[in-house]
Amino acid sequence: MKLCRFDEDRLGIVIGENVHDVSSAQDQIRAAARYDMKGDAVIAALPAWRGRLEELASKSPARPLREVKLLAPVARPSKVMAAPTNYTKHIEEMRAQKNETHRGLSSSIGEAGIFLKANSSLVGPSEGVPIRFPDRRSDHEAEIVLIIGKKGTDIAREKALEYVAGYALGLDMTVRGPEDRSFRKSVDGYTVLGPWMVTADEIADPNDLSFELSVNGQTRQNSNTRSMVYDIQRLIEFASSFYTLYPGDVFFTGTPEGVSRVNPGDEIEVRSGPIGRLTTKVRAHRAEI
Ligand code: MN
Repeated sequence: MKLCRFDEDRLGIVIGENVHDVSSAQDQIRAAARYDMKGDAVIAALPAWRGRLEELASKSPARPLREVKLLAPVARPSKVMAAPTNYTKHIEEMRAQKNETHRGLSSSIGEAGIFLKANSSLVGPSEGVPIRFPDRRSDHEAEIVLIIGKKGTDIAREKALEYVAGYALGLDMTVRGPEDRSFRKSVDGYTVLGPWMVTADEIADPNDLSFELSVNGQTRQNSNTRSMVYDIQRLIEFASSFYTLYPGDVFFTGTPEGVSRVNPGDEIEVRSGPIGRLTTKVRAHRAEI
């Protein structure tokens, strides 16, 4: 099942090139959720509601995807986690450019740990990426993203995939420079998630997912999650040894080589066969620039 959020906070199921509105279910789920819950009520409710969502979708009229505004598929994650330096060739390219990127030698993920991006930086593909610092380098980082489905802590590797609700494509946008990583990666709009969440049952092996990124039609990144230093299970095990994970938590799994600068006017596309195609536009934060 492909679950999306669209237009003004509506919930949809994507079937083919259409979206079927199931917002009435979202209203009921949210009304029944405690305000002080950690995580996203809709993602938490998916196992119980899946059958009803599919039935609702079959009865709701189809709208062409191209006519809707796609938002991030998770409305209220308790946190956005991200893996640094999880592809060896990306570590090498950052080392080669360390004067330009202002970073010293990148340490391994085991030493560096997971980092967090501000939840307020999360947007959907239709919202686009606003560039605040046109004089500085802002890079795209294409990533496979997992979305946590249920609460867990100290999760063992063998059980890790049971905690995944689904997968999406992501852009971990980054201002290069000397500041702390989470500061530079938490600019408004610098966490793009979409185009929807594909439930985990539709992904045969998340550690064998090809994905690529192009800017204005030119391929810049092309890799496979096979090349990750920490695979999906290890990432969940590692993160949950520090944090309790909650339904709806978003986990960027790291970017492969090929990161490069983008500028206002550029169009970024991330693709992966079983997930789909995320297209977003880069624009100026201030209109006069
Ligand atoms: Mn990244």
